[in-house]
Amino acid sequence: MTDCIFCQFSQGKTDQKKIYENEKFFSVFDINQKVPGHSLVISKEHFVTTLDIPDELGKELLDCIKKTAKKAIEKENATGFNIVNNNSSSAGQEVHHVHYHILPRKEGDKSPLVY
Ligand code: 5GP
Ligand code: ZN
Repeated sequence: MTDCIFCQFSQGKTDQKKIYENEKFFSVFDINQKVPGHSLVISKEHFVTTLDIPDELGKELLDCIKKTAKKAIEKENATGFNIVNNNSSSAGQEVHHVHYHILPRKEGDKSPLVY
């Protein structure tokens, strides 16, 4: 989709540095850092929500989440992380191309995040 910002990232139409990528997913730092190291794992193909991702991509998705989380944690000297995935506008999804927020966490960091 030409007007989708994450499709543009996927096609390399950005100077956004990738944190990690495999055949099906890649990750970048979020432009609006909710916590230091806030990253986004994004599908290379345009899927809208998690429900649209073919089951067989599960392995690549988990690989990209784990590698990205490890790098973000290391960079921030964090001790944990949250994975947040908003699906549809009613759930707070603003970019309608599936993505997973990786949020590095530290003990007592007083993040305003909820689950
Ligand atoms: P959502 O609310 O859809 O779950 O999250 C979309 C996320 O995409 C937001 O956290 C927002 O900051 C991020 N975002 C939107 N535009 C850009 C951009 O151009 N570059 C990067 N790196 N992140 C973006
Ligand atoms: Zn897209």
